[in-house]
Amino acid sequence: MPRQLFVTTALPYANGSFHIGHIMEYIQADIWVRFQRMQGHTVHFVCADDAHGAPIMLKAEAEGIKPETLVARIGAERARYLEGFHIAFDNWHSTHSAENTQLAQDIYRKLDAAGLIDRRTIEQYFDPVKSMFLADRYIKGECPNCGAKDQFGDNCEVCGAVYSPTDLKNPYSTLSGAPPVLKSSEHFFFRLSDARCVAFLKEWALGERLQGQVANKAREWLEGTGDKALGDWDISRDAPYFGIEIPGAPGKYFYVWLDAPIGYLASFKNYCRKKGIDFEAFLADPHSEQIHFIGKDIIYFHTLFWPAMLKFAGYKVPDRVYVHGFITVSGEKMSKSRGTGISPLRYLDIGMNPEWLRYYIAAKLNANVEDVDFNPDDFIARVNSDLVGKYVNIASRASKFLPEGRLVASEFGRNERTGDLLKAVQSHYEAREFGKAVRDIMAYADDANRKFDLAAPWQLVKEGKAERASEVATEAIEAFRAITACLKPILPDLAMRAERFLDCATLTFDSAALPLGPGHRIGAYEHLMTRVDAKHLDALFDMPEPSKAPPTQPAVAAAAPPAPAPASASASATIGIDDFMKVDLRVARIVDAGPVEGADKLVRLTLDIGEAKPRNVFAGIKAAYDPAQLVGRLTVMVANLAPRKMKFGLSEGMVLAASAPDGAASGIYLLAPDSGAVPGMRVK
Ligand SMILES: [Zn+2]
Repeated sequence: MPRQLFVTTALPYANGSFHIGHIMEYIQADIWVRFQRMQGHTVHFVCADDAHGAPIMLKAEAEGIKPETLVARIGAERARYLEGFHIAFDNWHSTHSAENTQLAQDIYRKLDAAGLIDRRTIEQYFDPVKSMFLADRYIKGECPNCGAKDQFGDNCEVCGAVYSPTDLKNPYSTLSGAPPVLKSSEHFFFRLSDARCVAFLKEWALGERLQGQVANKAREWLEGTGDKALGDWDISRDAPYFGIEIPGAPGKYFYVWLDAPIGYLASFKNYCRKKGIDFEAFLADPHSEQIHFIGKDIIYFHTLFWPAMLKFAGYKVPDRVYVHGFITVSGEKMSKSRGTGISPLRYLDIGMNPEWLRYYIAAKLNANVEDVDFNPDDFIARVNSDLVGKYVNIASRASKFLPEGRLVASEFGRNERTGDLLKAVQSHYEAREFGKAVRDIMAYADDANRKFDLAAPWQLVKEGKAERASEVATEAIEAFRAITACLKPILPDLAMRAERFLDCATLTFDSAALPLGPGHRIGAYEHLMTRVDAKHLDALFDMPEPSKAPPTQPAVAAAAPPAPAPASASASATIGIDDFMKVDLRVARIVDAGPVEGADKLVRLTLDIGEAKPRNVFAGIKAAYDPAQLVGRLTVMVANLAPRKMKFGLSEGMVLAASAPDGAASGIYLLAPDSGAVPGMRVK
């Protein structure tokens, strides 16, 4: 029976552009959704902007615009990213919408009727200049424990103490600088600690709904006692606030975290209206499944408040909450300020293929709550070796041995290998074990390539066995088609072009098990995917110019770690002759020289030192020399310097040049031997 799925990703906060973490989550969910659709299931895949709350209100105010205008501006950017990475949401809506207001107020009324809303008067810091109550993050002061200045209202970054804002000494509002005053106000609380909620959540968190790690965490919260006992949840904020008004309570608004997840339903409802789907009937149908993909930072909201709110308001509760980890870059957490993050827009703007990233992320994802590390070298290796080297190559190699693209009878489908692959890959996708799926697919591709190589159709053609060569090629094309079906959720665009090349119907796991068969004609092979180049990654990370990066900025000459100490007028400490003799200096002829794309200071030199193969060396001499005029000249190089892998390629030595302490400013002077010296002569 086909499944009916309502799938969401977490709603991004609408005060800024997407970052790579958003894109990773969307790619994960999008792959899963595409897989379900390939299985013939119905999926409604929606998201929305999370539009409310103080940060958006204050940011808009600072820009002198209405919060609605800010949210609309951010919302307008979304399509570029989503289309760019082939992320196919059915609907993108906003929590600042009629649907969300209606749903949030309805849920609140029902919770109130169920006796789960408390009204309590609390004392809170209030900014008398801005006339607003202050969230903890808008209050700073001196740490009550160590006295450090400018610490936030909830904890001290210097000594680690945790406290409440009223404990701060000399507190001030970060919005106006004014000392806050304590003021009382009536707040509304959702009684999460109510025995009914706890009992329901304990049961809800059991079974298959949550990953093991997540279920454990939820149980820990549910079973907490004393200090760690489950608290009630303050769901109201006082005006001024950009949000949804609490019915029957003028000047009171829902805290943004109450109406944000309700935005899942609001977006779906908005979509249902557009498509003529019965929203209420879908949610009431016991066969419908509600599935949320979220990051590990918002587990608390999605495993406690959200299901409890839905349950006691009489709504459908989530069937699954799938939690993923963060994305790190070369092992480091993203940080905009340190510039180690990947900008998704930059990725697209510099012409990188979005399917490279989809594939890379898929290859690294599993069903656990684990961080995914983006490693540039690993990225290049996987894309080039797996996608281009193993997968796309099969089609390009095999199609050459099929006259007029005509397939012949082959052994494809006569063993169980393909059927086993398709089955395994389907179960991996279902379980969100995308990395395992990729591993199995690539092992199968290895087999297909090995078989092709062993049969050596090019040899068969030479031996006059063209028909046998066509058999080998047909089998390879059929294998390519099975792999394409398997990769289709990850590579939707490439799969579409491959289907066109194969001239076959839209691939499914079922159809891929059967051969296209003899007589079927495929199209002419056209490039399906190009290789990723190291220079793409350099551009992506916008690495500093060699002049700013110590390891590639020798004051003297080329790429040599470590950077030489700054030259000084006086000579350095003495060394013995043995130390000097360790340096193998050779006369070198510059047989070729050229610029290095993406590096303003570097010249690529090809050096002959009398060896069978010339050396490749990068030298920081571009400011002083036109590469073309270097060709043919003799110079001196360090021949026994350990080769160094640079962004632009391997540097196999270093040429010698002189410069003043100010570096290139007073010029760079390449050394040259007197006439008569020949390449390879030792300098000592
Ligand atoms: Zn402190």
